[in-house]
Amino acid sequence: MNIRIGNGYDIHRLVPDRPLILGGVNIPHDLGLLGHSDADALTHAIMDAMLGALSLGDIGHYFPPSDPKWAGADSLLLLQQVDQLIKARGWHTGNIDSVIVAEKPYNDPNPLDFKKVTEEVFISIINGYRKRKNRTFS
Ligand SMILES: [Zn+2]
Repeated sequence: MNIRIGNGYDIHRLVPDRPLILGGVNIPHDLGLLGHSDADALTHAIMDAMLGALSLGDIGHYFPPSDPKWAGADSLLLLQQVDQLIKARGWHTGNIDSVIVAEKPYNDPNPLDFKKVTEEVFISIINGYRKRKNRTFS
């Protein structure tokens, strides 16, 4: 059995007037992540780990922020493309282990059920891009 391990890391600044999207899930918050795409730092880190495991570069190579084509892009769609790159080389992702480090605590009087959010993120990543398999990229 051949196994390769990748390590991904991403960081985005929290700013007003942006959605907070992690793992494809829009999390209600007064701040969101700044970025050229949807700034989904969790999905970006996962893509970098997948690409790094096969020495295929990083997401900036495939989806450069200088290209207006990726403005506001749904990172789960980008993840689908990375998954296709991996599969085209005969590999597949067997395990994802991620840590989220947040700049600002979540202070809502009705706190999020983080177990539910984590499950939703996982389902979104695993199933989200499968559902979008037939979507095309422009
Ligand atoms: Zn990013």
